[in-house]
Amino acid sequence: MGYEETWRRSVDEPEAFWAEQATLIDWHTPPRTILDDANPPFRRWFVGGTTNLCHNAVDRHLRVRGDQLAIVAVSTETNVTREISYRELHREVNAFAATLVELGVGKGDRVVIYLPNVAEAVFAMLACARIGAIHSVVFGGFAAHNLALRIDDAEPKLLVCADAGMRGGKVIPYKPLVDAALDESRCPPPHVLIVDRGLDPGMKTRPGRDVDYASLRERHLDATVPIVWLESNEPSYLLYTSGTTGRPKGVQRDVGGYAVALALSMTAIFDLPPGQTILCTSDVGWAVGHSYNVYGPLIGGCTAILYEGLPTHPDPGIWWRLCETYGARTMFSSPTALRILKKQDEAWLKKHDLSALKWIFVAGEPLDRPTYDWLTQGTGKTVIDNYWQTETGWPALSLMPGLDLKPVKPGSPGFPTFGYRMRVIDEATGEDKAPGEKGVLVIEPPLPPGCLGTIWRDDERYVRSYFGHFKELLYSSLDWAVRDADGYVFILGRTDDVINVAGHRLGTREIEESVATLGAVAEVAVVGVADELKGQVPVVFATLRQGVADHPVDVAHAMERRVVELLGGLARPACVYVVAALPKTRSGKLLRRSLQALVQGSDPGDLSTLDDPGALEEIRRVLVRGPHCGARRA
Ligand code: ATP
Ligand code: MG
Repeated sequence: MGYEETWRRSVDEPEAFWAEQATLIDWHTPPRTILDDANPPFRRWFVGGTTNLCHNAVDRHLRVRGDQLAIVAVSTETNVTREISYRELHREVNAFAATLVELGVGKGDRVVIYLPNVAEAVFAMLACARIGAIHSVVFGGFAAHNLALRIDDAEPKLLVCADAGMRGGKVIPYKPLVDAALDESRCPPPHVLIVDRGLDPGMKTRPGRDVDYASLRERHLDATVPIVWLESNEPSYLLYTSGTTGRPKGVQRDVGGYAVALALSMTAIFDLPPGQTILCTSDVGWAVGHSYNVYGPLIGGCTAILYEGLPTHPDPGIWWRLCETYGARTMFSSPTALRILKKQDEAWLKKHDLSALKWIFVAGEPLDRPTYDWLTQGTGKTVIDNYWQTETGWPALSLMPGLDLKPVKPGSPGFPTFGYRMRVIDEATGEDKAPGEKGVLVIEPPLPPGCLGTIWRDDERYVRSYFGHFKELLYSSLDWAVRDADGYVFILGRTDDVINVAGHRLGTREIEESVATLGAVAEVAVVGVADELKGQVPVVFATLRQGVADHPVDVAHAMERRVVELLGGLARPACVYVVAALPKTRSGKLLRRSLQALVQGSDPGDLSTLDDPGALEEIRRVLVRGPHCGARRA
């Protein structure tokens, strides 16, 4: 069956379709009802079925693939590579689970995991899943206040952390951040379990509260901890959104629906039959990391490469070298990471034997044309843009090489995946937009398996945040989109990233895309800034490629000319600033919201998810100095 037929069946006969997919995983008790849709927008998949993520990711593979590599954890920070078979993974997960049990963690208890991208993060997640505890992974290195906010929301029984992370050769002690967060928190957990990597010799511990994992692991290395079978709709984990647009939301994921959706995505979307290898360059702290560094590949019986380090260290060929060494068939990365590589010598793309690699998937932000071209031409591989949100847990829009690969249209993540009935509608009237017309991308309930069930302990916020935007009960993605005549969806940016110039609405992405067509530009962010005369005007911030940074004024003028040439005078940037770095969240998403606030002199809001506070400081200085092109602004 081709894409159209399969997709149509998934939305027209969801129960029949998903009943078939349910057989992709092991159930302890088979589901009684495939879909309970009696209380929209809430819905329950595989009701009455009991299963377990850890069993499906680890135990069920032992017989056939016990000696196959499950996880290859590579750190170019500590120069350690750990090749872990399914059998070894099973042992480590049991030891970790026994430790959790000893520390009083049981079914339904929350565990905050604050670890870098190391194997222990995977062990900890799977150990929680094994005993029915709910993990909440917080990106390692997040500031203490962020961590405290998430602790207060999740109210964990235990916090698991490392002594330190490392970035670009620099040790980042985690423990002082944890101590500060727990001092600030309303409900600190009774214990902190420390994975001591020996990176911070000066680490201070609090007797009675802090526990060293190494000694407990030793004691429990031969433990067997029984699987706790969970009803399909019980929570498996919480994951807070990036917070690009405001206070992060505790996305709550189920068990059965998530496992089934991931299992299906592994083969149909990512074209990874059991035994194949994926290099996913995400972090376990993000949604992509949860689904395609940990649960997806393991449920699918594949080998997952987990990477700690910079994409450029020890050299910009490191990811391609890993693909070669482990014969990765699929790579999954983000536009931000690829743009970092694009700044480097193109020769790095050609140095390694990539004959096993078939697909490069990219998600997280719009994939701009120049980056797409550079990657496709440089590697000769098919580059597949896919669109998702922390909320969806797996791609909502993508081409599906494992099922039926449609031609790639650069700039488009393709078509709705299974169970996603999507529409592009007018944000005021809720009417469907014609092909070629821009509107808000919405999903008709019921949301497919794998998508969030609610916001942790806040059903009301779930309904209001996602389903409260239109008269009809529709999930709003809060992203602009347009569908072309062939049904390809193009994402045009977030609904709050629109500039209204003299009554005309311009998407920031369109302006960014036109600026990015200049070869000298490495990265660009466009924001709308209040203007007395026109309502709003576009302001451009850009970083330049290596070697052209000496002529910022020339390039800034070229940017202005290019925008006018491609989009017309209305889109002309009021000013262009050339900067050394753009402010991004830890997950690599541009924080346009804070750039806009800085230019307007208003409160930049919650900067807690900011990756590099230095970038904002530099922008403050550049704003004082004045733009490289256009009028000086207050
Ligand atoms: P918050 O919801 O807290 O503001 P966030 O939306 O940045 O944070 P994520 O769930 O990590 O958190 O990001 C999802 C968003 O990323 C999407 O809504 C979309 O704006 C963007 N995105 C993801 N993939 C793509 C893609 N392939 N093309 C364009 N945009 C994408
Ligand atoms: Mg979002």
